[in-house]
Amino acid sequence: MRALVLTATGGLDGLAVADLPRPGAPPAGWVTLQIRAAALNRLDLFVAGGIPGGAPVLPHIVGADGAGVVVEVGEGVATVRPGDEVMFDPGISCGDCPACRADDAPFCTTYQILGEHRHGSAAEFIQVPAVNLAPRPAGWSWAEAAGFSLAALTAWRMMVTRARLRAAETVLIWGAGGGVAQMCIGIAKHLGARVLATSSTPEKLALARKLGADVALDHAAVDVVAEVKRLTGRTGCQVVIDNVGQATWERSLRSLARGGRLVSCGATSGPAAAFDLRRLFWHQWSILGSTMGSRSEYRAVTALAQQGSLRPVIDTVVPLDRAIDAFRRLHSGAQAGKLAIEVTP
Ligand SMILES: [Zn+2]
Repeated sequence: MRALVLTATGGLDGLAVADLPRPGAPPAGWVTLQIRAAALNRLDLFVAGGIPGGAPVLPHIVGADGAGVVVEVGEGVATVRPGDEVMFDPGISCGDCPACRADDAPFCTTYQILGEHRHGSAAEFIQVPAVNLAPRPAGWSWAEAAGFSLAALTAWRMMVTRARLRAAETVLIWGAGGGVAQMCIGIAKHLGARVLATSSTPEKLALARKLGADVALDHAAVDVVAEVKRLTGRTGCQVVIDNVGQATWERSLRSLARGGRLVSCGATSGPAAAFDLRRLFWHQWSILGSTMGSRSEYRAVTALAQQGSLRPVIDTVVPLDRAIDAFRRLHSGAQAGKLAIEVTP
C-alpha cells in the first residue's frame, strides 16, 4: 500500500511516499479501514521534527487524523460492518486499566496517538479499534471528516471538561487560523458564551467572525489586553484558550478575570512561561492543561457534528504525492483551517 512515511526525523525533508505491506487481518475488536483522506495537525510537525525521547521506529507512517471506509472487521465487532463510512478518535487506549474503566483514556498508562507512537493515517489502509469510530456526518467531504476528530476532541475537553465554560461568560481564543481554535469558537457559541478571537490576517479574522466569534482582534495590530478590558467593562475574560504559549502567556494572564481559567493545549511559540504566584492566588486563577479526550467526550463532540452544529474548515486538499506541500503550508502558518491529504481518490 502507498503511505506517507518519515524516513528520518529532524524536519520535513525526511518525508517520502513509500510502498509498505498492507496490514493483515484485524485483531479482535479492531477494524481495517481504507483511508480516503488524512488531515494534518501541529503534532505531525513535532513528530517530523523529532520528539525528545519518543523517536518512532522508521520508516514511520505519519498522520493522526483520517476518514475512510471499513473493509474488514475483527472478531467481536458488531458496531460497524464493511462499507461503513467513518472517521475516528486518534487516541488508542488499553480499555482495561483504572483510567480506561473510569472513561479517562488520556490517562491510560499505555495511551498512544496515531501517527505519533504508532503508524498513522496517511496510508491506504490503517487498523483502529472499533470503539474509536464515528460515522462520517451526512454531506461532509472526506477531507472534512478527516479534519474533524483530533481538533474537535481536544477543543471539547478544553472548553467543556477543563474550563467548564458557561453561557454568559466571555472567552478569549488566540490564533483563530488553527483547527483547535476554530473548534473552540464553535463549541463556545454552542455553549452560549461570548467569543473574542484573535488572528493576524484579514482573511483569518473574517473567518473567525464567520465561525461565530463576536469580536475578532488583530493581535499583530491592536493591544489585545486593552481591547479585552474595554470589551468586558474592565472585568477580563472568564476563560482564555492559549495554544500559542510563550509569545502570548503574559497577555493571556492579563486578560483573565478574577476567578478566571486559562487553558493550554499547546506551546507553538515556545514552552517557557512564568507568573507571579501572588497574582495567581489573589485573583484565584486556575491554570489548566489539556490534551486529547475521552471516549465520552468524543461521542459528545461527534454528536454536535452529526447535528450540523460543528464542522471543520478545510484550507487545502492535496493528493498523497504532494503531501509535503501541505506540511510546508502548516509549517509556514499561512493556513486558515485544516490541511487534508487525499489518500484514495
Ligand atoms: Zn488503559
